[in-house]
Amino acid sequence: MTAIIYQNTVPHNNFSDQPNVSVVVPIYNEVESLPHLIDAISNSLKNSGLSYEIILVDDGSKDGSTQLLREQAILRTDLRAVLLRRNYGQTAAMAAGFNYAKGQVIVTLDGDLQNDPADIPLLIAKLEEGYDLVSGWRKNRQDGALDRLLPSKIANWLIGKVTDVKLHDYGCSLKAYRSELVADMNLYGELHRFLPALAYIEGARITEIPVRHHARRFGQSKYGLGRTFRVLMDLLTIWFMKKFLTRPMHVFGWWGLISMFAGISIGSYLTFVKLVLGEEIGNRPLLVLAVVLLLAGVQLFSFGLLAELLMRTYHESQGRPIYRVREVVDAIAHNTQQ
Ligand code: UDP
Ligand code: MG
Repeated sequence: MTAIIYQNTVPHNNFSDQPNVSVVVPIYNEVESLPHLIDAISNSLKNSGLSYEIILVDDGSKDGSTQLLREQAILRTDLRAVLLRRNYGQTAAMAAGFNYAKGQVIVTLDGDLQNDPADIPLLIAKLEEGYDLVSGWRKNRQDGALDRLLPSKIANWLIGKVTDVKLHDYGCSLKAYRSELVADMNLYGELHRFLPALAYIEGARITEIPVRHHARRFGQSKYGLGRTFRVLMDLLTIWFMKKFLTRPMHVFGWWGLISMFAGISIGSYLTFVKLVLGEEIGNRPLLVLAVVLLLAGVQLFSFGLLAELLMRTYHESQGRPIYRVREVVDAIAHNTQQ
């Protein structure tokens, strides 16, 4: 495999030497898997012709993983351990790993050997075809049918509907990214699952390839059914961001105006009934409707205005442009790259 040369690559830390690949793995109580994991990752990359680094992020483990990681990171030159102070969750651990990753390509996977590190070169080869993100698809998933596969089937269907990103398997941790893409994204909650959706909002080219999947050999899963509900809430956030991020007033302002207009119309009618026709209106349901519509309209409208202000703060305080440039082409840049 040839080395990957990406134009446009922005290293997002201060180190000068940049490996081709950074493998980022969050680790929470995986002490038995760790030695196998480290070996498997380095075996898969050693002979690929790519330079690489392994970044293992200890997410406040309590089973000795921390100690083992510390020892291994001192012994090995291809391994760096980032030890978090406490357990923050998988998303935060991955974000920490991204922050320390220097590679042009960032590959993520789980630390429990369910993903197969031997698939890493395949993902990278696919990325080389001109994608920004390649996601793994666990075609033969080795997890419980009722507690895992069913919720995941429903979640995958929903996520596809909401995000417009067409993947079979959003939950697979084994993914490869071009590093610029990761540098652009901020992760909160459990949003690591939605990295493809977030990347899609940022204009990334996304694809998937089937990858191997194994049953958990050591330790146990860190999640139960409760995760499904958190995924649903995160999905709402993504939906909202995709739809309204740069134009909240278009939606809230519009519905606010319609609601206010309806409220005022009904109110005027009732005023007419009371003043001109001289009928009682105090006991009419329509009166309640008019009041509710008017208040809701004012609320929606002012919410839209507030959202506009927040949105401006969101983009401007972080220097986040509302667009993403893939490449700028001009004669001078072209000639210096030759
Ligand atoms: N993980 C983590 N912090 C947590 C929970 C999980 O870093 O609070 C890591 C865990 O060690 C593993 C990956 O995230 O490497 C996925 O976790 P798990 O295998 O339990 O999830 P599942 O495969 O059951 O979806
Ligand atoms: Mg797992």
